[in-house]
Amino acid sequence: MLFLLNKQPNINEYDKILYNAECKVKTIVENFIKNNKLKKENSLIRIKLGKTCGNFFRRMIPKISKNITATSECTKCGICLTNCPNGNITFEDGKAVFHSKCMLCLRCIYVCPVNAIRYKGKKIKQVQKDRIKGVIK
Ligand code: SF4
Ligand code: SF4
Repeated sequence: MLFLLNKQPNINEYDKILYNAECKVKTIVENFIKNNKLKKENSLIRIKLGKTCGNFFRRMIPKISKNITATSECTKCGICLTNCPNGNITFEDGKAVFHSKCMLCLRCIYVCPVNAIRYKGKKIKQVQKDRIKGVIK
């Protein structure tokens, strides 16, 4: 969510986050396969705070996603439409239009071949572009 804070993402930070996430997922899958019960102690305050933040963020998403737009550079290639996991993008008046089902995954921004998608009118560096090449439909 660095982009919401108007911070330029750092490729090393992404690498670290992805590496940590991969390790966690690997552990969870291994435990699931072995049928091990995962015991993680969380304080009640932490659980409640997590729920409150999660609910707040979910309510904010439609409002935040209104800030995603495509510029006139859009070539109407359709790549963002076919790759949006929520079917949130359609073509209107010759360019991609974003609706309220967005979950802010940012995939559309990274798959656009001409980087025509903006957040609050600002261009976002497509730092994940090379990583997701293999999953583009
Ligand atoms: S950010 Fe994700 S969910 Fe939202 S429009 Fe783009 S691809 Fe779809
Ligand atoms: S991927 Fe980019 S150029 Fe292609 S339709 Fe979407 S916004 Fe337009």
